[in-house]
Amino acid sequence: MPASPAPSMKYAPAKPPLTGETLETLAARLGERGEPAFRARQILEWVYKKRARSWDGMTNLSKATRAWLADTFELMPAALVLNRQSADVTDKLLLELGDRSLIETVIIRAPQDGVGLDHSRKTICISTQVGCAMACVFCASGLAGLRRDLLAGEIVAQLLQVCYLEDARTPRARAELASFDNIVVMGMGEPLANYDALIRALAIVNAGWGLGFGARRITVSTSGLVPGILRLADEPLGFRLAVSLHGATDAVREKIMPVNRAYPLSRLLPAVKAFATRHGRMVTLEFILLADVNDSPDQAETLREIARDLHAHVNLIPYNTVEGLPWRRPSPERQEQFADVLRAARVSVTLRREKGHDIAAACGQLRLQTEKGAAQAGPDLD
Ligand code: SAH
Repeated sequence: MPASPAPSMKYAPAKPPLTGETLETLAARLGERGEPAFRARQILEWVYKKRARSWDGMTNLSKATRAWLADTFELMPAALVLNRQSADVTDKLLLELGDRSLIETVIIRAPQDGVGLDHSRKTICISTQVGCAMACVFCASGLAGLRRDLLAGEIVAQLLQVCYLEDARTPRARAELASFDNIVVMGMGEPLANYDALIRALAIVNAGWGLGFGARRITVSTSGLVPGILRLADEPLGFRLAVSLHGATDAVREKIMPVNRAYPLSRLLPAVKAFATRHGRMVTLEFILLADVNDSPDQAETLREIARDLHAHVNLIPYNTVEGLPWRRPSPERQEQFADVLRAARVSVTLRREKGHDIAAACGQLRLQTEKGAAQAGPDLD
């Protein structure tokens, strides 16, 4: 098992996605064609504010410009192939990319009193790689290893697809705004192993000419790549950080997360602290509860000390069973006992009432089922 991600296959489609271009890079391309400086802004307004679904829909561009765009870029590099809804609370989108790879994007709605679900707070969970190299033993995404990194434009496209769906569902007065409240980079893949594409995508999502989405509402979740955490701490846009801890001691953590061998807690925790100090915002520690693996009172007590030292929020997540893997979640009583150890010390903690269990919402599970199904049906998809 690689303790740090192996370099993945480079993917360079004949037509790169337009959603991977920044205002500057697009303006430079257009400038070479002798187009005026405002043209790039005009095109990006069609993409992000007016949500144009075709080149022909960009009616204030000349036919020649539209033809050049169509020859040069893919407008939407991720096609929606499946939307599985769960009790109206979760939408799990399966998207197909240009090379037929499948990725997942999830819409999670938090029901609120007095408003319909369409107006509830929405968190969008996006993927950054096809598969994953981190090989965490409990996770469906890593079972088949890493296939490739996503392009920045494929990361951005996931959010545009969500906008298309939400725009159709709930027409809003200011239709140009993003139709969700938070972004979590917690889908398939290790975001900090695809660092440059991640940052480029998030800069596009954040830019005024892009989706105009606040960096403070974007959380990047990592399995613990220390150099990436330190780099992220230095980014001018202040993204939030979540760390998948899942073990409060090296002995427990390295059993389930091979990354702990390269970056043990003695290196990880100071990096998280440096990030928190730099940003002055709480970091989140994610801790999935696995029966008989990491759910002992000892683990709870050690986690409590780590959280206090980092002044971190702890998100306890009862494990979501993956077909073919032996891991189970502890009983609800044992989950509560674990949480109580943290609560008693006034550590900020949530015990996640999990959403979307019935539609395989955890990381990589829908893709896995779809690919397994396709493999059984014949060699068509993969
Ligand atoms: N690679 C990044 C982000 C993607 S995983 C990371 O490790 O943080 C997002 C979160 O889902 C991680 O905390 C991961 O450990 C967790 N996860 C993976 N499989 C899960 C499962 N079956 N049930 C619950 N959480 C799971």
